[in-house]
Amino acid sequence: MQQKKIGLNTICTHVGEVKDEQFKGAVSPLYMSSSYAFEDVDVKRYPRYFNTPNQEALCKKIAALEHTQAGLIFGSGMAAITTSLMAFLRAGDHVVLQQVLYGGTYNLVVEEFDKFGIEYSFTHGWAPEDFEKKIRSNTKVIYIETPSNPLLTITDLDAIGKLAKKHGLISMIDNTFASPVNQNPIDFGIDVVIHSATKYMGGHSDILAGAVASSEENINRIFALAKNFGGSLSDYTVWLLERSLKTMGLRVKAQNANAQHMAEYLFGHKAVTWVYYPGLKSHPDHELAKSQMNGFGGMLSFELHKDYDATQFQKELQLIKPSMSLAGVESTMLSPTKTSHALLGAEERAKQGILDGLIRFSVGIEEPEDLIADIEQALEKVRLGRVATTS
Ligand code: PLP
Repeated sequence: MQQKKIGLNTICTHVGEVKDEQFKGAVSPLYMSSSYAFEDVDVKRYPRYFNTPNQEALCKKIAALEHTQAGLIFGSGMAAITTSLMAFLRAGDHVVLQQVLYGGTYNLVVEEFDKFGIEYSFTHGWAPEDFEKKIRSNTKVIYIETPSNPLLTITDLDAIGKLAKKHGLISMIDNTFASPVNQNPIDFGIDVVIHSATKYMGGHSDILAGAVASSEENINRIFALAKNFGGSLSDYTVWLLERSLKTMGLRVKAQNANAQHMAEYLFGHKAVTWVYYPGLKSHPDHELAKSQMNGFGGMLSFELHKDYDATQFQKELQLIKPSMSLAGVESTMLSPTKTSHALLGAEERAKQGILDGLIRFSVGIEEPEDLIADIEQALEKVRLGRVATTS
């Protein structure tokens, strides 16, 4: 448990270090052993038991970052999501999930849950009433994502926390888009906080990892499954993730500032019909976002006017990478209809408001004027009926 109140960047830099007692080095030594003594030891250690020195130490940092007691580090965000959901669900149980969800989570539910006899319902929106309407006598878990992908909708954390408590349910959130820098759902009564650590926690597009933070009791329950499912993270990557987390506060705050700048620039642009960003006053839940987020995040989406070819636009970018995934220090863009939400089908996408001209923008730490110059040159090339495209 977090003993005394220390600031975000101090947590990022110092909490959960492995002390180098032997050589007094400034950073955590890396213990790569997959075999530890079993006689005369306090703990029987093994990487798949999530209890090597580096794993245990990093869990303390994750817990402190999310203002809770305990954490677990996984081999991927999906391993963290699957293990957390399955820890609280068994055959005959029911889970209510937010309609707009990361595609991988949606696929996990619709492709796997029937096989385990787990019932599920997706909400028709993200208002608290949408969740309450779906609760049944056998419901055990409410699962949310805010801000959501790709339209940056905002779900009311406090209302969902209260709703879950009223019905005796476990509330879970995928907090990946916000990162622990911008949102700490435990403070609003959410029980289990999950991250794809591949994103803002890793921050450099070179680590695949997942993390969960919750009470000691909940983490013990998730761990009981985790050791059987086997989704632990290699110690080398644990060590890299610790290194990345030291700069997470700095990176994410820079990304917040850049995203606000880019959202305001795009909002007034003639080539753009709408910008989805909780930091804009035009966002329908701007006030709610303000009340539950410390920053509005580095993710935004925008809709290109039909006079601009969205596919060609992304091909013409020179600095911003048209690339899957998100949250790295480098800016990237993608078309949700061709990537993250391709499997949903056109009808379901249209229902959710995900149209072909939509572009998701993961804003990095570059100078905003360089990002704007890149967007301007690409738009100039792809304005339909004016200038021929180059590829
Ligand atoms: N949650 C969100 C919001 C994501 O964007 C992703 C991956 O893109 C995941 C979960 C899954 O994480 P991973 O790819 O680390 O398994």
